Amino acid sequence: MSQSIEQEFKNLLKEQASYEEAIGLMAWDLRTKAPKRAVDQRSEVIGVLSQKVHEIQTSEKMKEYLDALTDASTDPIVNKAVEEARETYERTVKVPVEEYKAYVTLQSKAESIWAEAKESNDFKGFQPYLEKLVSYNRRFADYWGYDHHKYDALLHNYEPGVTVEVLDQVFPKVRKALTELLEQINQATDQPDPSLLKGHFPKDKQEAFSYEILEHMGYNFEAGRLDETVHPFAIGLNSNDVRVTTKYDEKDFRTAVFGTIHEGGHALYEQNIDPALAFTPLATGTSMGIHESQSLFWENLVARSKPFWQNHYELFKRHAPDRFSSISLEDFYRAVNEVKPSMIRIEADELTYSLHIMIRYELEKALIGGEIEVKDLPGLWNEKMRDYLGVTPQNDSEGILQDIHWSGGDFGYFPSYSLGYMYAAQLHHTMKQEISFNDVIQKGDFKQIQQWLTERIHRFGKMKKPLEIINDVTGEGLNPDYLVSYLTNKYQEIYKL
Ligand code: ZN
Repeated sequence: MSQSIEQEFKNLLKEQASYEEAIGLMAWDLRTKAPKRAVDQRSEVIGVLSQKVHEIQTSEKMKEYLDALTDASTDPIVNKAVEEARETYERTVKVPVEEYKAYVTLQSKAESIWAEAKESNDFKGFQPYLEKLVSYNRRFADYWGYDHHKYDALLHNYEPGVTVEVLDQVFPKVRKALTELLEQINQATDQPDPSLLKGHFPKDKQEAFSYEILEHMGYNFEAGRLDETVHPFAIGLNSNDVRVTTKYDEKDFRTAVFGTIHEGGHALYEQNIDPALAFTPLATGTSMGIHESQSLFWENLVARSKPFWQNHYELFKRHAPDRFSSISLEDFYRAVNEVKPSMIRIEADELTYSLHIMIRYELEKALIGGEIEVKDLPGLWNEKMRDYLGVTPQNDSEGILQDIHWSGGDFGYFPSYSLGYMYAAQLHHTMKQEISFNDVIQKGDFKQIQQWLTERIHRFGKMKKPLEIINDVTGEGLNPDYLVSYLTNKYQEIYKL
């Protein structure tokens, strides 16, 4: 095998990664700093560069390298990169170019139509666009292929290895346990008092607290930064430049505190990927689900735990209004963990969150499978909200129209949120056997946690598939029982059940 082909392949990947880094930086800028009038042209520039990436991924040269290099290198990173690039190549060339271009145009159009429809509570206005997006995705699924369910082909884009068969096994189990627990919680006589948490929290104090917490978590500010945005996100440009964004609500500190920790969890993953993977498609998180497992691990299993607040409550009080000095740690802890079914997914507590996801999963699976039609969605949505959460949206804006995902054609994405949560609980179970989790958190020694996650998950980037990681770390496949027992134990204590 020729050394030079391997080098040429690496050069091509480097070119691709460079365009991607430029796109990422522009996307970060658009969402944080760019002046309003910059948006249109910058979006066009991103479009041009994305086209370049697409051309590289599907080029004759790429095909030639992949054919020459399959299983041919002595370097495992090269072999994995070939595997990854081949999969992208094959999936991309299966979609006819003209159809792909029309789809990209539809996506951006549909997103702005959706935003208007949500604003004016007009599902009918969005319906024809959603119908087209669904039919494109059904065709894509046919191009890509699947074994059992058409939806599997879409799931594969976000969580390779997880199928309808897997989800249909775990979700009903989790749903049953959660709805039973929710019922007990609703009937509990001793309820937490979230009104305790009200107050005025000046932005600069929240900002100071956010910086301190990120530092405690092991986030490296020499390889990242924290900025403000409307819809918070974290973005890894490369492992030495991973940026976190957050939002400060002066009436509710929870938005920034838990939001920053969540995005910080995503960022730690990207910061700790093995530098040897740089400039390859392997230098990122392995899947949406594993990524979400990292953010949720920090947000919920660490930052919503009692030991965390045993350590951080004093620090918090220094940044909070004086009245918090008379609120006990116990009351504070119970209040930040209040469970209350809500209409809106992104405002959901950690217990009801997965129920929101299951509703979306069932609907999109049925849409892609051709069992229901887009026009039936609002009614079905409201019915499921009633069944699962016991609340009924007053209108489509707070119902079927609330999430951006479908307007961008992202079908198959939602389950990764819930999978991430199950993975996080499963990892937590294993971690607790290896380090004294509560003591470590109470002492604020997060370095141990970060190193544990880096050693077993972060450093591999895409060198391992999601379920391979779960198996290697926990010794078994996806097991939803850990999430159920974590939530049951936690909420039995909080609600004194
Ligand atoms: Zn996230």
